[in-house]
Amino acid sequence: MNSFWAEIFFVIAVSIVAGLTSWFFFSAFWAIVVVVLVLSLFTAHHFYQLTRLMRWLRQPVGTPLPKGGGAWEDVFAELHRRSREAAEERNSMKTALERFRHAGQALPDGVVILDSNQVIEWFNTTAEHHFGLSRDKDVGSRITNLLREPTFVSYIGAGQYADPLLLHPVRESGRTLALQIVSYGDAQSLLLSRDITQLEKLETMRRDFVANVSHELKTPLTVVSGFIETLLDDLSDLSEEEAKHFLGLAHEQAQRMQRLIMDLLMLSALETGSPPPTEERVALDDLLAEVTDEAMTLSKGRHQIVPTGTNGAGLLGSRNELRSALGNLVTNAIRYTPAGGTIRISWQTDDDGSGVFSVSDNGIGIENHHLPRLTERFYRVDRGRSRESGGTGLGLAIVKHVLTRHQAVLKIQSELSHGSTFSAQFPAHRVTHGAISKTS
Ligand code: ADP
Repeated sequence: MNSFWAEIFFVIAVSIVAGLTSWFFFSAFWAIVVVVLVLSLFTAHHFYQLTRLMRWLRQPVGTPLPKGGGAWEDVFAELHRRSREAAEERNSMKTALERFRHAGQALPDGVVILDSNQVIEWFNTTAEHHFGLSRDKDVGSRITNLLREPTFVSYIGAGQYADPLLLHPVRESGRTLALQIVSYGDAQSLLLSRDITQLEKLETMRRDFVANVSHELKTPLTVVSGFIETLLDDLSDLSEEEAKHFLGLAHEQAQRMQRLIMDLLMLSALETGSPPPTEERVALDDLLAEVTDEAMTLSKGRHQIVPTGTNGAGLLGSRNELRSALGNLVTNAIRYTPAGGTIRISWQTDDDGSGVFSVSDNGIGIENHHLPRLTERFYRVDRGRSRESGGTGLGLAIVKHVLTRHQAVLKIQSELSHGSTFSAQFPAHRVTHGAISKTS
């Protein structure tokens, strides 16, 4: 028997006993008065408990439930159990929501939750940066009131979200965002944004590179095929001397293409995940002698070439790569220095153990504004002059890559019409001291 029925029986029993007793000792009137009094006390008790319950219901969710008396004890206990269960459910939902929010915040992409009227309900930090949103002001605003770019407004209005929209936000020039709307639930949607600026830059670089290579190959190829056609058509009419002249010119162009291909192969080997340089001990005396010989061959006696000793210092790295990088600096000095000029090739070990390989010339020099771009692929100050002297436009790009792989940096100082100094600065851990046996 629960407390409700117990209380009913108790009240009936008390009323009967009190009524009968009053009737027996006094009169029927007093019996009725006593029964009414007992029932009123009983009603007042229930009214009191009901009032406590009503007061509790008006309190904020989570307020502890008061303890009920009599029959209300069960009611209050049941309510207490249910309220505890609801609180636990609320807590687990809150935890799940928090977890979802944290996951949303951690996404590298921007996420904006929109309701069926495209009003912002929530967004993560990345979206905040992408769209310049403010957490305090913009939740509850229509997305099209904040992102007013016409392309976006018509994209969101069209309702066709199979393809992403590429957006160049006006407020941040140079940035490219890929936007995509994903519908879910009851007409709600997610606006996802991804910063593809870097990707676009790479794509532009790739396109430029292909265009440049094609252009670089097209010119000599046209010349070579022109000469071959001439030889085929007029071989019998040409003297041996004329034929030799044409073949010589064709050979020159073929060599130019070969140089370009070799440089491209070298660059791609350096760029596309080839293994890091072998840690060879490269004797700088030998390296200096080799690049000096190369410079002399190229100069054909037109320049004064001054190498400075290295005191037996050496470098740890890839001999082939270092040979190619330092050789490029020296051949550039010859190619961009008019006859009669002086080229100085030197090595200097600093007190902190680091070392600098420098090539100085007193040639044509370079205007300051070109300096930051010289190591870009195919960047030339004077395209005609570079081609004339057998340049591919890739030399300094190769130098930069090789040096980076050896933790070294390229420094360029130059003054127009006065000359240039290209210095490769190697960190101490790459520099060795004392004599090194010759490596081949
Ligand atoms: P290129 O094959 O055209 O020489 P590089 O990448 O080696 O290509 O050099 C890029 C550009 O830097 C050259 O076209 C030239 O304009 C400039 N440059 C490089 N070295 C020198 C130098 N020693 N003196 C003057 N200009 C130079």
